[in-house]
Amino acid sequence: MRGGVMTVLEQVARHTGARLLAGHEPSTWLRGRLVDLVTRWRAGQSLGCAHLPGAEAWLVALWDPARVACPACVPLVLASGEEDRTCDRCRIVHLDVRPLLVEALPGVLVTFGLCPSCFGREVP
Ligand SMILES: [Zn+2]
Ligand SMILES: [Zn+2]
Repeated sequence: MRGGVMTVLEQVARHTGARLLAGHEPSTWLRGRLVDLVTRWRAGQSLGCAHLPGAEAWLVALWDPARVACPACVPLVLASGEEDRTCDRCRIVHLDVRPLLVEALPGVLVTFGLCPSCFGREVP
């Protein structure tokens, strides 16, 4: 059901204001982070919301890998304040951190924020 997941992606992108990187090929850095997320999940170190078993897609934020949410629970995993302005790659606090959204695995959405220079490395 690719169409369903695309709809969820677009809804999450709208809700979070994140830019959807469709068909994005992750950089070495991002791929490493995604492997970390999956490893945590498999090890039972992430806490999912109550709807996950039947959810069409899951969302996890790179800055808070311990929480996984269905699309309806997206506000639970969203950052606010300082973390919102912290680049997930270089960890600097920047006014122009850009929220991004990728589909890491089918149905697994990952959101993160990058400062302009890290953005340029991730999205050439
Ligand atoms: Zn939920
Ligand atoms: Zn950065």
